[in-house]
Amino acid sequence: MPNKLDFNQQPNFPQLEEEVQKFWEEDKTFEKSVQNRPEDNPYIFYDGPPFATGLPHYGHLLGSTSKDVIPRYQTMKGKRVERVWGWDCHGLPIENMIEKKLEIKGGKKGIEDLGIANFNNACQSEVLRLDKEWEKIIGRLGRWADFQNNYKTMDKNYMESVWWGFKRLFDKGLVYEGHKVILYCPRCATPLSNFEIAMDNSYKDVEDWSVYLKFHVKNSKNEYLVAWTTTPWTLPGNVALAVAPDADYVKVELNGEYFWMAKSLYKKVTEKVEKDSSKVKVVEEVKGSSLAGIEYEPLFNYVDVGDKKSHYVAVADFVSMEDGTGIVHTAALFGEDDYALALKLDLPLVPTLDDQGKFLDFVTPFAGMFYKKAEKFVNEDLESRNLMFLKEKMVHSYPHCYRCDTPLYFNALPAWFVNVQKLKDSLIETNESINWFPEHLKYGRFKKGLEGAPDWNISRSRYWGTPMPIWKAHDAEGVEHLRIIGSIEELQKWAVDADKVADINNIHREFIDDVEVWVDDEKTLKGMRIPEVFDCWVESGSMPYASVHYPFENKEKFEKAYPAQFISEYIAQTRAWFYTMHVMSVGIFDKPAFENVLTTGTILAEDGSKMSKSKNNYPDPMLLINNYGVDSLRLYMMSSTVMKSENLNFNEKEVADIRRKVFVIWWNVYGFYKNFANLAVGFSKPDFEPDHVMDKWLLERVVSLTKEVTEQMDNYDVVRASRNLMVFVDELSTWYLRLSRDRFRDKSLNHQSSQVFGFAIYTLAQLFAPVTPFFSEVIHQDMTGNNDSIHLTNWPDFADAKVDADLLAKMEEVKMVVEKIRAKRQEIGIKVRQPLASATVKSRYSAPTQDLLEVMALELNVKKVLWEVSKEDDVLLDTNITPELKAEGEARDVMRQIQNMRRKAGLKVGQVVEVTLKSWPESWQDEIEKKTDVRLKKGEEEGLVS
Ligand SMILES: [Zn+2]
Repeated sequence: MPNKLDFNQQPNFPQLEEEVQKFWEEDKTFEKSVQNRPEDNPYIFYDGPPFATGLPHYGHLLGSTSKDVIPRYQTMKGKRVERVWGWDCHGLPIENMIEKKLEIKGGKKGIEDLGIANFNNACQSEVLRLDKEWEKIIGRLGRWADFQNNYKTMDKNYMESVWWGFKRLFDKGLVYEGHKVILYCPRCATPLSNFEIAMDNSYKDVEDWSVYLKFHVKNSKNEYLVAWTTTPWTLPGNVALAVAPDADYVKVELNGEYFWMAKSLYKKVTEKVEKDSSKVKVVEEVKGSSLAGIEYEPLFNYVDVGDKKSHYVAVADFVSMEDGTGIVHTAALFGEDDYALALKLDLPLVPTLDDQGKFLDFVTPFAGMFYKKAEKFVNEDLESRNLMFLKEKMVHSYPHCYRCDTPLYFNALPAWFVNVQKLKDSLIETNESINWFPEHLKYGRFKKGLEGAPDWNISRSRYWGTPMPIWKAHDAEGVEHLRIIGSIEELQKWAVDADKVADINNIHREFIDDVEVWVDDEKTLKGMRIPEVFDCWVESGSMPYASVHYPFENKEKFEKAYPAQFISEYIAQTRAWFYTMHVMSVGIFDKPAFENVLTTGTILAEDGSKMSKSKNNYPDPMLLINNYGVDSLRLYMMSSTVMKSENLNFNEKEVADIRRKVFVIWWNVYGFYKNFANLAVGFSKPDFEPDHVMDKWLLERVVSLTKEVTEQMDNYDVVRASRNLMVFVDELSTWYLRLSRDRFRDKSLNHQSSQVFGFAIYTLAQLFAPVTPFFSEVIHQDMTGNNDSIHLTNWPDFADAKVDADLLAKMEEVKMVVEKIRAKRQEIGIKVRQPLASATVKSRYSAPTQDLLEVMALELNVKKVLWEVSKEDDVLLDTNITPELKAEGEARDVMRQIQNMRRKAGLKVGQVVEVTLKSWPESWQDEIEKKTDVRLKKGEEEGLVS
């Protein structure tokens, strides 16, 4: 492997890659690359486990490449990098799939009618349906991962460790049960956590009603308080109005009625109803505090408020003067501020919706109606009773369920929380020791997220997840007792019927929901488990220890290797997996879970919109790979700012460009080396100083490039490392090789150049190996003739080598001047093949060495380059073409013509043939014949005589 390379043909990269992949599989190269490195020199990588409910998309390919590049690099640096694959199995997405597939109607009730066991079985059999497909695609991508020893979040061992971690948090006083107003999905009948909503596109612009209501002041004839809302469905639940105590409010007269609104807002509102502002008269002005206590007639009378005081004006500090009327409608249960105010003032807390978002029976006209659907009827009802001041449509950003797309609403629900407020200082402090790439995330998005984080709601009223290990009972006095179970052993110890759990090997709900547990140590109180399961982010956040069944197994290994050196995911995970892992880790172990985090951006369609299957706005990844080769795709992504957490608008043409500008050129350069270099001298790092300045420069360039790339890879700056290498491929071809071709013609003389050139090509392959593992492997095996892998070699280390920075800088100057003179030639219209007597460079910089001037002269096809130190930068060409120069120019044209003929005829170098030409400059005959391996013959019909 691979088959002998044929440089007369265009390279077929996808085919070469498949051969390489086959070699890796047969050779077990990945396994070797881990085992060859010492166990006591580990580099720990945590993989955020994917859901396997669909096939990998570009986001997975990006993440997978990033998760492959760094481990391959660290392996070459001598580290042992184990990479065990994981599967995320639980959670809402899979439950929703099963509900659809089994056509379960009625939401949770439907599931419970079917039976939790049946439902969970269906989830389990669905969840890894595509695992083999994944393995295939990830393999073709070149990502090395251990699929054999994979872990699954639904494994008993994994779940047991999740229990253990939760108990640790509970014992440290970091968990509580409370009521909180949380965004709630009525279809899934479960609350969602704030970071589930912060991810991706949970917020969507939707058109909703914006309504201004007239709340009739009690005992007045025609005086109203005007309040605004965009959620009319909450109006049947209204219990109070709130005003800002220090703001100014006015009573205005309009068409014989009186309306209270904030002074700063009333014009904006009334002008929508009455264009003629002279008809709107302010008749009274007061501070908000003096409105407090005013009672009003409820809009609806469905809510039984009991003995509680309600339907009056209260003061609150959350009233906005940005929009609305400065008077806020309060439906105690459906807003965070509303709920806090309701608790403070002891307002009635009466729900109007059931757990599926439908109006309860006592809200008679809307009973059984989905809350969103009811809005139209609520509005109509209010309009018919002349209680609508103004109604308009507005577009605003509204949260939706990330799985089922149902509009969410705020709901006050009982739930379990991790007390993030208590942990906050340590969360922020431990972030100090984490190295973020890109750096701005550390104090930007991540730290800001920590600072603003609310307590984490970790309970879900669902089925397919790790059950929360909380057993509860009330004693005779009604006092609540809890038992938190942290392991299967503890469950067996405290189970009322020990036999029932003696052989338990599955701890999903259907196996433990009916297990009674003694909640007191005296074993007098039998408790039942609370029905909730964990938010699946608790499970992914527990991945570091749960994936190795810590502390039940791998105790020493885990403790020695914690935290990980490296994780990498896309930007949305800063508020999700990075966050939950950080919370679990700081809560349990008082330290961060990871030391370095490489955050990628999001891959979008070419036009900047989200990639969407239904819109068909992106190329099929496998077709693309089979077209250009996966190395081109990998390099495209790795050299893009998507590796600095910015968005990338995916452009197939740019992948094609990379294939052409990097891999085809790399292939051609290597082909030249194979054809013209003296391969016998080898390609180890030269221990001599080369005679020729181009060889000298190339050697220095490779050493300095290696140092730069090493530093960048150490800093997780894969973008700069990749771009640096791409620039070098171009330099190797269009600078070194272009200026050195002639010197390679005679194999017996080019041994120094051959070794330097070979060294450059091989080192390039090594430096590129983590990013473009396939073609690097091809070069390695072809150059060494060995049947081993470049990925088992050591990363080139020239840390001790001195770099001749002067030479590198001078060469950059020379390149720039050459560009200028080329441009000048084009401007005057004298082609490059026509030799000229001289070029004069005026420069602020001192002259390069004589050999560099000669290099320039050769490249520019001038007899000499004159360098004058001057205040102004300029280049001049001697355009006087003498008969001798003219003859030389013609000779070059002839030589070029002959080379073209030879190429077309497929002649080998050194194969001498006869050529018939009409004419050529006589004085150049010997030179032409020698350089092109021909004998010249005069004749009318031009061509090769074979
Ligand atoms: Zn939902």
